[in-house]
Amino acid sequence: MNNISIFTIFILSTLSLFGKVEVVTTIPDYASITKELGGDYINVENLIQPTQDPHFADPLPSHIVKLNRADLVVHNGAGLESGWLPSVLKQARNSSILSEHSIGNLNASHYVSLKEIQKESDRSAGDVHPEGNPHFYTSPIELFKIAKEISRRLQEIDPKHKDEYKKNWEIFEEKYNTKMAQWNKVAQKIKGKKIVVYHESWIYLLDWLSLSKRGALEPKPGVPPTTKHILSLLKHIESEEISFVMQELYHPTNLSSMFAKKSKSKLLVLPSMTDGSIWDKFDSILEKLSGEKI
Ligand SMILES: [Zn+2]
Repeated sequence: MNNISIFTIFILSTLSLFGKVEVVTTIPDYASITKELGGDYINVENLIQPTQDPHFADPLPSHIVKLNRADLVVHNGAGLESGWLPSVLKQARNSSILSEHSIGNLNASHYVSLKEIQKESDRSAGDVHPEGNPHFYTSPIELFKIAKEISRRLQEIDPKHKDEYKKNWEIFEEKYNTKMAQWNKVAQKIKGKKIVVYHESWIYLLDWLSLSKRGALEPKPGVPPTTKHILSLLKHIESEEISFVMQELYHPTNLSSMFAKKSKSKLLVLPSMTDGSIWDKFDSILEKLSGEKI
């Protein structure tokens, strides 16, 4: 046996001996949280970029490969990934994560207070929120609840490192309390401001910050804005002072900037999902809303 083969066997046996928990997340916010809670004992692969619309992602062969070797999948649920995740999950043929009843499959929507649950909704008319509003990752309060469950699952899947996961949770909880105190202080200065949104991504954020939503540019979630709808919305808010038109990174800005101009408000393009940590995301959102550096 040559030196390279011996070296390869040594590496492989070392990896299996000190095997890490393989986690796949659908959106970057869950990846950021899981990395903080899992530390050195996990690997995280994320599927959707913050610049991609999670409703309309394409199922990719690379998703199948990642899911095939996962010990835990953290997905949003409430229909957000229903256009692409079920097919790649099935093709991954991984019994540890396939069923929502298994410890390896974490549907985040089961751990939050879901808003805008509709009694009846018309999927055929293009509404992409038939199970309620799935964008709860725009609120740190909801993300905290999901983080708690991620930590619990890691402790159960990898009991050998339970103490380390518990320690990471305590650090996370302390940071959350500190940041929330800071953010809530800034929120006091902007509460009551009136907002028009592009897509219905923001209700969890707006409720947390006591901001008032006056309308949406999309006539229904997932249905692109029409001239008729925009004109009727402009008429509807004519006598109101709208502070901001808010939209995600992945929608076009031509109509929203026109709407902002006509309604004498300011267009804010905000990160609904993070490209770093969840702390950076809310710092950036609060800075843009308040005009203050955090
Ligand atoms: Zn949506």
